[in-house]
Amino acid sequence: MYLRSLTLTGFRNLVDTALEVPREGVAIIGRNAQGKTNLLEAIQYLETFRSFRAARDEQLVRFGGNVFRIVADLASTGGGGPRAPRITAAYDAGTRAKKVTVDGEEVERLGDAIGRVGAVLFTPEDVRLITDGPQERRRFLDVMLSLNASEYLASLQRFRHVLSQRNAALRDRAPSEVVGAWDQPLVQSGAEVSWERATWLRELGGTFAERYREISDGVPAHVVYESSIPDVAEKKSVDEVAQEYRDALLRSREREASRRTTVVGPHRDELRFFHDGDGDAMDLRDFGSGGQRRTAALTLRLLEVETVRRRRGREPILLLDDVFAELDEGRSARVLDLLDRVVRGQVLLTAPKESDVRFRGDTLARWTIEQGRVDA
Ligand code: ATP
Ligand code: MG
Repeated sequence: MYLRSLTLTGFRNLVDTALEVPREGVAIIGRNAQGKTNLLEAIQYLETFRSFRAARDEQLVRFGGNVFRIVADLASTGGGGPRAPRITAAYDAGTRAKKVTVDGEEVERLGDAIGRVGAVLFTPEDVRLITDGPQERRRFLDVMLSLNASEYLASLQRFRHVLSQRNAALRDRAPSEVVGAWDQPLVQSGAEVSWERATWLRELGGTFAERYREISDGVPAHVVYESSIPDVAEKKSVDEVAQEYRDALLRSREREASRRTTVVGPHRDELRFFHDGDGDAMDLRDFGSGGQRRTAALTLRLLEVETVRRRRGREPILLLDDVFAELDEGRSARVLDLLDRVVRGQVLLTAPKESDVRFRGDTLARWTIEQGRVDA
């Protein structure tokens, strides 16, 4: 599937436009602050119905305006694949109403419409996946698995609900029966969330090592899933995880009572990235260089690409926002080479200069963007 056309109204600084997108993709060239990232943000919005920059919907409305609207027509690349939908999202800042439709039908829950575009976005800000706190990595896992594992979003929502109820009871020093009443649903939904995360990493941890090594010219690396539930990575079923979680919860009673919050569970999970050069494993968050962290972040996005392929059975649309920023010559050449080999679908990439576009042997169509006006 690929993005065939995109219509934007009232979105950020972008001048209202209707664009036909070439099937192979396009390189979008523009100086800083012209609207390149805004354009990719609009496309990615239709995948998750929120801004990847964690902006609130009202911030996406053009200054002085009230409403934005994004319409995308997808097209099938042929074969008997899934049908190609039209997806729209509109937001009205006056009423704070968001409306999402798929093929003209308004969806009741956003969860029913996410993941239809099949886009994977790479941005320089991805480095924060490595450098920021663990909540950033949990958010990555949550968004990525909500899009790619069928029951994940439902489990996560149940878990969050139960966790907040249980934490409220602990905070209020409610009697232990009241807190305990939340244990079973917490353990069940929490085990489902942890199981999906662990399963994903088991499936793709090796690919992380492979890709990182390739971009770093032979330096090995690995990624570890650390959970407050012991040995999650070695468990063979969600029931085994639940059993372990139940035991860990029982053991944590005293700590919970003194901290007045739930201390064990997927809300405490962490992913850690290690660079294995020169003998010792080095935690990239604490000791990595800018380029090494950027490489790890990029590699994580490549795993997302692989996930869409395997789990959704389709080639993702790649949105590459200035991805070569801050990589040295060798590294960016190897990234390019890797992308050229592993990416088969449509690619929309942005760059400040024409000379930064060296993707697909320069065959991509060019658009320019200036003060929000796209010249296709
Ligand atoms: P860079 O190369 O620096 O990353 P860019 O082309 O990606 O630049 P964008 O992040 O897309 O630039 O932003 C372009 C402009 O959009 C900024 O000048 C910003 O002030 C403007 N902008 C952001 N939000 C809105 C909005 N809601 N309404 C109007 N303009 C906005
Ligand atoms: Mg930008």
